Amino acid sequence: MGATLGILGGGQLGRMTAMAAARLGIPCVVWTPDADSPASQVAAETIVAPWNDSQAAAVLAAKVDAVTLEFENVPLDAVRALTELVAVRPGARCLEVAQDRLLEKTFANDLGIATAPYRQVGSLDELGRAFQDIGGPAILKSRRLGYDGKGQTRLNQSGDAPLAWEEVGGVPCILEGFVPFEKEVSVIVGRGLDGACRAYDVMENHHENHILRRTLAPAAISPAVASQAQEIGARLASALDLVGLLAVEFFLLEDGTLMVNEIAPRPHNSGHWTIDACTVSQFEQLVRAVVDLPLGDPQRHSDAEMLNLLGNEASMVSDSLSQPGTCVHLYGKSEARAGRKMGHITMLRPRT
Ligand code: AMP
Repeated sequence: MGATLGILGGGQLGRMTAMAAARLGIPCVVWTPDADSPASQVAAETIVAPWNDSQAAAVLAAKVDAVTLEFENVPLDAVRALTELVAVRPGARCLEVAQDRLLEKTFANDLGIATAPYRQVGSLDELGRAFQDIGGPAILKSRRLGYDGKGQTRLNQSGDAPLAWEEVGGVPCILEGFVPFEKEVSVIVGRGLDGACRAYDVMENHHENHILRRTLAPAAISPAVASQAQEIGARLASALDLVGLLAVEFFLLEDGTLMVNEIAPRPHNSGHWTIDACTVSQFEQLVRAVVDLPLGDPQRHSDAEMLNLLGNEASMVSDSLSQPGTCVHLYGKSEARAGRKMGHITMLRPRT
């Protein structure tokens, strides 16, 4: 096929993307600011440079046919500059929306897609007014650069506002109503250059300390809710004119209502089970979309349970290595900090 793919970001998502690309004979060039990264261990080549290095952008663009990203907080200016030199998929508009919780929620609501109620908050005064409007409990979240529960804090009463504002660092925020969800579910949609969308089965996610701990595929939800989640995923991806993958996280309420919590225009932790339980994984689907190959079949051939290995849990996988139907993935990170995603295990079961 002869294509070479560029990847912005050097984390485990980039590593698994490069491995999927290699299966199709497609070499990857990774651009990351970090000297020792999980993706660089498996990529054909790595460019280590800060995101504002225009020479690095030119070097990457000269080596690859298209560029994708595994890290959604690449500065927009860097992505826009790179777009002048080579196709970047998904594009800057998708990133712009996904990087900002306010734009993300407004974008979904403008399409008639439900989210938690929210208000824009730019000062302590505004936080007080937003809390009056929304009521408690509520969650204050920084608009940008939040992940795994970082940059967010809960308010139960209006008196909590000053401390909450201080805790998030006085940066532009949104205040979100607390959603009494029954489950958290997510869906991943691949979208090609021709606009065709292929959705994976909807999965169910369990978090601990705001970090994803366990994903079950498929989610134990009704077929009607599952197809609604897939349809919302495809609608968001199409409205963003996204080429690549869109992951959508939802809150599912007891009455069957789905509310979009977050979108990510990249492979997603809740989709790691697709490596072992589907013919074409989320990573291979991304590669196919970005280098303009036909999208693959997202059907699962097995049911799956995925467990993240956090911190030093990765050193305790010897039992899993000898379990039948268990697939062990380690990301090659040297430092096992508490809560850091070091690998995952997928347990396969016969398809239900
Ligand atoms: P986020 O970073 O927005 O994905 O939030 C991390 C986790 O916090 C979510 O997966 C939920 O478990 C919880 N959470 C976030 N926002 C809300 C909300 N508005 N209502 C209830 N739980 C929430």
